[in-house]
Amino acid sequence: STVSRVLRDTVRRFPGRDAVVFSDQHIRWTWKAFDEQVDALALGLLELGVKKGDRVAIWSPNRAEWLVTQFATARIGAILVNINPAYRLHELEYALNKVGCTVLISAVRFKTSDYLDMLRTLAPELDAGHARLSSARLPHLTYVVQMGEAAVAGMLRYADVVHSGMQARQCAGATRLAAGEATLHCDEPINIQFTSGTTGNPKGATLTHRNIVNNGRFIGMAMKLDERDALCIPVPFYHCFGMVLGVLACVSSGAKMVFPCEGFDAGATLRAVSIERCTGLHGVPTMFIAELDHPEFESFDLRSLRTGIMAGSPCPIETMKKVVSRMHMAEVTIAYGMTETSPVSFQSSTEDPLDKRVTTVGRIQPHLEVRIVGPDGDTVPVGVKGELWTRGYSVMVGYWDDDDKTREAIVDGWMRTGDLATLDEDGYCNIVGRVKDMLIRGGENVYPREIEEFLFQHPDVQSVQVFGVPDAKYGEEICAWIVPKPGRTLTDVDIRQFCEGQIAHFKIPRYIRFVDAIPMTVTGKAQKFVMRDRMIEELG
Ligand code: ATP
Ligand code: MG
Repeated sequence: STVSRVLRDTVRRFPGRDAVVFSDQHIRWTWKAFDEQVDALALGLLELGVKKGDRVAIWSPNRAEWLVTQFATARIGAILVNINPAYRLHELEYALNKVGCTVLISAVRFKTSDYLDMLRTLAPELDAGHARLSSARLPHLTYVVQMGEAAVAGMLRYADVVHSGMQARQCAGATRLAAGEATLHCDEPINIQFTSGTTGNPKGATLTHRNIVNNGRFIGMAMKLDERDALCIPVPFYHCFGMVLGVLACVSSGAKMVFPCEGFDAGATLRAVSIERCTGLHGVPTMFIAELDHPEFESFDLRSLRTGIMAGSPCPIETMKKVVSRMHMAEVTIAYGMTETSPVSFQSSTEDPLDKRVTTVGRIQPHLEVRIVGPDGDTVPVGVKGELWTRGYSVMVGYWDDDDKTREAIVDGWMRTGDLATLDEDGYCNIVGRVKDMLIRGGENVYPREIEEFLFQHPDVQSVQVFGVPDAKYGEEICAWIVPKPGRTLTDVDIRQFCEGQIAHFKIPRYIRFVDAIPMTVTGKAQKFVMRDRMIEELG
């Protein structure tokens, strides 16, 4: 099926039921109302000359316009390009040019970033009022469509594009759309998603309808979502977690989608869950930790919760247990995936015993294959650590315009995930860390994840990251960055005493630093390369 067909089916089944809530934009749409917005924007984009296969970029935090754009582009077969809302000038310029975007749909700002200012710098023509651009720095871009009111002369307003689409819709627009839609094929690319940039520069994964539609459907099925559910989605749209695990899982099952606010906010998320009586809640571990630690946690009624997915980075067992006991999410599951595989390849099922659900990422999803590969390229025995490879419908076409990286990443249809994992005899998978993160200290393999799990048990530790720094004597040394809980102080000695006799001596971090915050991607993942660079600088 195509992305657009999935939405059409749900609209036909549940036209009058609530589909979408954007709490801070005061938007509440039924499936029918949502579908009308999608039709209107799709027709508006056609009026601008957007054709099948053209790249349309969206640069915005979680707003209703994002959701509509996702389905409007899918309806006309344009390729949606997800731009990270945290990007600044150079990253935006790089991404738009890399994939040759002809239209950019942009918010006005996000947090401290003024998108308008950056766009005017990249395309000074915007101020001159020529709606059709020809800018030296963005040679492919013809239109900037801007959300909200603060219009710059040359930008089109999102509301106007939708309005022109609405008018077209009244003049046989629907027939025109349907004719185009009939020509779409599920193996055509529909989306370019950039990876999180946890290990370096984000890469643009090219995904087809088949990739993401099926993944969304399997996720919804694993969560047993149906039209009676309401899923709270505080994870970003631009990332597959929001777009596939959140949006597509709901659209294929008819569940209501609830978006608390533009950026992540623990209080706003908890409030949205209690007001909308959400049955599901997604998040990366850091989001759940922030929600559990919220000072007014007890004042929110979370009893409607049942399910949700924790994913994106290693999920501390303690946090999983608290999510079950204090947030009532008895059916919460861990999922494992990566942008390049649409994204989910492992997910625990609600039938799995609790200990498997909190300690592993579950079993391989239907219709996918898995191998754990050793350094020599052979499959390793059960229980042995190796690199995780997956194969099947979910593997991307490739990185856009980057054959070399694609060839490195995909071998005979197998996606090399770059993650270290083990499989047990029942097929449950354990993610041990990233291949790149494993460090070798004096000949011993050290897995930062294991040390992080241990230090996280300290009652005064809010979060912790462990990584390697180069060392003349041992090759690499272990470094830990620790954020203490609010109001607590910790010392080097506290941590060392906590480790003494509990973990092997060679695993006790040589360098311990206490920090206010860990450098993160917008998806809430710790960027170890940033921490490592800072330590290298500090240590000289
Ligand atoms: P980049 O590839 O740009 O460095 P990234 O790998 O973080 O960034 P994503 O595609 O967003 O980009 O994330 C996929 C990665 O997230 C996986 O390869 C894995 O390392 C990690 N991950 C995802 N889910 C889990 C999980 N449940 N447990 C542990 N790690 C996970
Ligand atoms: Mg990656």
